[in-house]
Amino acid sequence: MLDRVPLIAGNWKMHKTLSEAVSFASALKGQLEEGGRGVEVAVCPPFTALAGVSEVLKESGINVGAQDVFWEEKGAFTGEISPPMLADLGCRYVIIGHSERRQYFGETDSAVNRKTRAALRWDLVPIVCVGETLSEREGGAALRVVERQLRGGLEGLLPHQAAGLVIAYEPVWAIGTGVNASPRDAQEMIAFIRRTVGEMYGGRAAESVRILYGGSVSPANAASILAEPDIDGALVGGASLDLASFLTIVDAAAVSQR
Ligand code: PEP
Repeated sequence: MLDRVPLIAGNWKMHKTLSEAVSFASALKGQLEEGGRGVEVAVCPPFTALAGVSEVLKESGINVGAQDVFWEEKGAFTGEISPPMLADLGCRYVIIGHSERRQYFGETDSAVNRKTRAALRWDLVPIVCVGETLSEREGGAALRVVERQLRGGLEGLLPHQAAGLVIAYEPVWAIGTGVNASPRDAQEMIAFIRRTVGEMYGGRAAESVRILYGGSVSPANAASILAEPDIDGALVGGASLDLASFLTIVDAAAVSQR
C-alpha cells in the first residue's frame, strides 16, 4: 500500500451524550495505548462532545474529527460551526458531504467544495464522502455519479491539497443496512476514484490520497475489505459505537499492513 497509513475513522453520527462519548474515548485510549498497530485511528463525535473527547485523546495518537463544517469563518449563520472553531478544539479531520447530509439536508457538490476548501484553509483534513444510491447503481450510473461528486467536490484544489485529502467511498445503499459492497466492487470503485484524482491532480496526488471504504463495515467483513490494494481504511458508522467491534476493525487494518 505504498506509504499510505491506513485510517480507521468512526463516525458516531447523532449518538452518545457528552459523558458517554468521554467514557468511550477513555476506554479506547486505554486499549490502543497497548501497542502501535501501524494504523491511524480517529473518532468523529457529535459537535457537543468534540471538546470533551478531544481533551481525553490529547497526545494519545488517536485523532478527532467533526461530522460537518460550514465554509464561513464567522458571522450570522445561526446553528453553523466554522473551521477555526473545530481547529481550536483540536480536530484534525472533518467529514464533508456524508450521504446523510446530502440526502436529508440538501448538501450539493458545490457546498461540499466550499466546505472542503474552507477546511483546508484551516489545516483540517477533509474526509470527503462520495457514493451512489441503489437506483443509480442498478441503472448503471454509479461511476458517472461518483465522478460528478469528485469533480464537483474537489474542484479548484492545489495538487498537494488533493494529495493530503481523505476520500470515503460510501455507497448509499450500504450505509447502515448491514449490506456491504463486496470487496471486489469496493476495490473497483476506489481504483476508479484514484484514477479520477490522478486525472484532476496528477499521479503524485493519486498515489498519496487515502481512500476509505464505508458502508456496513463490521468485524466480520473488515479483513476482506481492507485486504484490497487500493482501500486505505474504513469509515465506520454503527460498528464504531461498540468498543470491541471498533477495535476488531482496527486490528484487521493492522493485519492488512503486514
Ligand atoms: C457511515 O455513516 O459513514 C457508515 C459507513 O455507516 P455504517 O458503517 O453504519 O454503514
